[in-house]
Amino acid sequence: MSCKLFIPGPVAVSEKTLRAMARPMIGHRSADFIALYRRLTPQLQALLGTRNSVYLATSSAWGVMEGALRNVARRKVLCCMNGAFSDKWLDVARRCGLEAGGLQFEWGQPVDPAALRAELAKGGYDAVTLIHNETSCGCMSDLPALAAVLRDFPDVISIVDTVSSFSAVPIDQDALGLDIVLAGSQKALALPPGLTVVSVSQRALERAATAPARGYYFDLVEFEKNHEGGMTPSTPVIPLIYALESKLDDIAAEGLAARFARHARLNRLVREWGFARGFRLFPRDGYGSVTLNCFANTRGVDLPALNQQLKTRGFVIDGGYGKLKGKTFRISNMGDETDATMTELLAALDASLKAIGA
Ligand SMILES: *Cc1c(COP(=O)(O)O)cnc(C)c1O
Repeated sequence: MSCKLFIPGPVAVSEKTLRAMARPMIGHRSADFIALYRRLTPQLQALLGTRNSVYLATSSAWGVMEGALRNVARRKVLCCMNGAFSDKWLDVARRCGLEAGGLQFEWGQPVDPAALRAELAKGGYDAVTLIHNETSCGCMSDLPALAAVLRDFPDVISIVDTVSSFSAVPIDQDALGLDIVLAGSQKALALPPGLTVVSVSQRALERAATAPARGYYFDLVEFEKNHEGGMTPSTPVIPLIYALESKLDDIAAEGLAARFARHARLNRLVREWGFARGFRLFPRDGYGSVTLNCFANTRGVDLPALNQQLKTRGFVIDGGYGKLKGKTFRISNMGDETDATMTELLAALDASLKAIGA
């Protein structure tokens, strides 16, 4: 039996989304596809707070995270690091043959705007990678404060991962002056994995046009050219685009403000549950993610045993990412969850804690 996922991605996918994916294929150069593609653009722009083009890439987020670097990093990239995904981005930059430096913070500490300013002021950087919501440790950095720093360095192109915050909290790409903003499908959008949305500023496109080794599959200039025709460069994952269309309809029906409020409310519900049971948040106070809670395992609970128990009740949570395995546990509240579904999970967690004598 498969259990309902409350891990921070992939998250549970609704029957409605699965049905949307089962529709017959259309040609990706057909009028039907162009109409579908063009219908999605304004809704994606609203979610990202941008008038830039928003491209649909057939890959998980890492494809675009790597590809963006190859488009815009010329001399040296600075990678802001405070968790597993942001740490890995430095490694990915180096694997692309780029010169890259890390601005390292402890896992669970937010990226510090003053430290970012001091490092960029040293000069030599022409791109920055930044993760808004470090899913590995449930830490959400202050994007407006960091963007304010980045705006003072106009030669530095920003690449911002909003993979696990997109559509759950407002993102104001244009107001913040962010260059490249990307998000994957299997987090707060609650779609299956395999699709990434990415929005790119004019400045970033101009930089990309001069990049000799940007490749083909993630060539942003190629994406822009095709976008103008309502298409993608290569054959896209059409079932996921059907799913995205269905999800954007749901989001429009709920309303953006209500969707953001729901994520914030459910996040608090889980957080208070944890506090009442003697756990504390792993990330620094005031920087806990709105889409998941990463609790420090202050009670020394046997997390594999807890998940075993929880599975008999039909649910799974995450027992800690990488070096935090066993030391933290993460509960996602992203996607389609409601007060009722979260309350059901928390009751099952209580029963499971009791069953293992914790
Ligand atoms: C999940 C996640 C990724 C990686 O996404 P893939 O789908 O595995 O490529 C990157 N960044 C963040 C913040 C994530 O949460």
